[in-house]
Amino acid sequence: MDTDTDTNIYDIIILGGGLSGLRACDLLLKKKKDLKILILEANNKIGGRVSSKEYEEKNWDLSGAWCAPSADQKYVGELIDEIGLKRHTYHAKGKKVMEFSSDLRKTYSILIPPIGILQAIEVQLSVWKLERVISSISDIETSNIPKAKEWDGMSAEDWINQNVRSENAKILLRVALLSTFFEEAKNLSLLYVLLYFRTCEGIMKAIEDKGGAQQDLIVGGTMQLVEYLYNTIGGAEKVKLDHVVESITNYDSFPVKITCANGASFLCKNVLCSIPPPLCKDIVHQPPLPSARQQLVNTMKMDKVIKFFVYYEKCFWKESGYCGEAVSFRDSVQMCYDATLQDGTQPCIVGIFAGNSAELWSKKTKQERKDEVLDFIHKNLGQENDQRYLSPVRYLEINFMEERFTPGRCSNIAPKTNFMDFKNSIRDPIKNLFFCGTDTATKWIGFLDGALESAERAAIELLCKITNNNDN
Ligand SMILES: Cc1cc2nc3c(=O)[nH]c(=O)nc-3n(C[C@H](O)[C@H](O)[C@H](O)COP(=O)(O)OP(=O)(O)OC[C@H]3O[C@@H](n4cnc5c(N)ncnc54)[C@H](O)[C@@H]3O)c2cc1C
Repeated sequence: MDTDTDTNIYDIIILGGGLSGLRACDLLLKKKKDLKILILEANNKIGGRVSSKEYEEKNWDLSGAWCAPSADQKYVGELIDEIGLKRHTYHAKGKKVMEFSSDLRKTYSILIPPIGILQAIEVQLSVWKLERVISSISDIETSNIPKAKEWDGMSAEDWINQNVRSENAKILLRVALLSTFFEEAKNLSLLYVLLYFRTCEGIMKAIEDKGGAQQDLIVGGTMQLVEYLYNTIGGAEKVKLDHVVESITNYDSFPVKITCANGASFLCKNVLCSIPPPLCKDIVHQPPLPSARQQLVNTMKMDKVIKFFVYYEKCFWKESGYCGEAVSFRDSVQMCYDATLQDGTQPCIVGIFAGNSAELWSKKTKQERKDEVLDFIHKNLGQENDQRYLSPVRYLEINFMEERFTPGRCSNIAPKTNFMDFKNSIRDPIKNLFFCGTDTATKWIGFLDGALESAERAAIELLCKITNNNDN
């Protein structure tokens, strides 16, 4: 590890070696191969929120995994095609389970769970109402949204309470939001929720498997996307691992100085920051950031999630006609689904603890969480006397809240405070400081596709500046 000052003056230093940072570097070099670019990554590995674990010679995606068809998620589709990867399509065939309480659960096969006919109609009407509001947003720039101020003053929970009457319908909408945002409805800005779904072309596209964001998995795993980009840009020559950026000095002038926790420092003309806004709180900026950007960095939060994988000898649930999907109102596991490989090998159930439950259960031991997960799977996917669910081959989990540099899922949550004041400060460049990352995307915020879209937008911004200023 080098801890001395690097005497090079780079054209661009990219902060963060996740999907967006790596793709931005790749696109910049494809357009201008003589650019001097360096990536500083805090972790001891590349990929950020794309990560995988090897089990029985296969790579299992721990985080970013699903994608929508290319017609909807164009950027991830282009990268998959560029590498020549294949997709497999997820089909939840069989009964799904809705667990209302420890002794009440119902099965269903359509999208909306069996909460009672009137309540189901109410949920459907509420979703349509929200879809209409979302499709009325023609521009994600908040100052162009007539009702932005009103929505900014509300949480998603406020909207539910004002628009939904039956308790079961309310609970179902809360669970749906929790499974999407890994955060409680009361902590979600309504404006943020609407804008998020707007960037996915609607709620159903964001949550559905068939035709939606949960339709396809990449054969061999998403880690191949970052590995390909890493190798294409030149690997270790371009990326310095274990470099935690601590300060950005002189970003309004020349040269900009980046200092890392290990004492290493670097000079450059431009900085591209791909670090999620809440994690930028720990980076000292000199001069201080403009107030809107600083407020955004201070206000946004990472969401809360623990993801688990339970491997079994066989897909026992299929014997009883279950597809492996269960959703629950309990204060622990929110949902699970079948993640068995397409060829039927490595039977596996994947699921999450999210929001307050994730926070609560992260304070317990791994054994306590495992016991709760097995109880959840046994009660929802098994028969009462079937003990096979309680003896898995393997239990794996990842508590994202403990990951210092990748502590959450796709979305950063702005609570209902002044989201409007941030305007475009999430992505607008400030002098020589540029931004990318899924949270800055204008399409599919929080998704792999959003990370890649933001990389392309930032690469164009940088190329325009470099060409116009002739600063290369
Ligand atoms: C549990 C989970 C499930 C998900 N599921 C899906 C899914 O099914 N489909 C989908 O499309 N998306 C999914 N996502 C989201 C997807 O993984 C992300 O949108 C995408 O990987 C984000 O890439 P990024 O480059 O924008 O950010 P990141 O991957 O977060 O990259 C930022 C990088 O900055 C580094 N960094 C942080 N601080 C510093 C510092 N001080 N100095 C230097 N480097 C720093 C980090 O280590 C990281 O490598 C999921 C995410 C999670 C966590």
